[in-house]
Amino acid sequence: MMDRNEERRAFLIKSGAAIAGTMLAIRGIPAALAAEHEMAMTGAGGADGYVIQSNLAQRCATCEFWGGPRRLARDGKSITVTGLGWCNNPKSENYQKITSPDHGPMAVWTKWQAIP
Ligand code: SF4
Repeated sequence: MMDRNEERRAFLIKSGAAIAGTMLAIRGIPAALAAEHEMAMTGAGGADGYVIQSNLAQRCATCEFWGGPRRLARDGKSITVTGLGWCNNPKSENYQKITSPDHGPMAVWTKWQAIP
């Protein structure tokens, strides 16, 4: 069983977030901010990504407008995420910015239509 730090490391390696964090730092957004968002993840590391519950409201991973790599489980109860993503919601303050899957809560969030 992995401890919290091991889970974080596994997620960062799988998602390439370390590279994205460097890119964010170049854009003026501290890499620590991306790491802070990652720390709030609620799931456990899996073989092919980071798993979060699909009923987590007002977060990017469950938002209709999020453009990150994600896969809804067959039973619809969880989402496997493998990286950061773009916000595609024109009503969001993060529109056209890269966000972490657990970013939020956000009032302009809209539930991903794929979630039952
Ligand atoms: S930043 Fe807000 S509106 Fe944009 S994808 Fe994330 S939850 Fe949705």
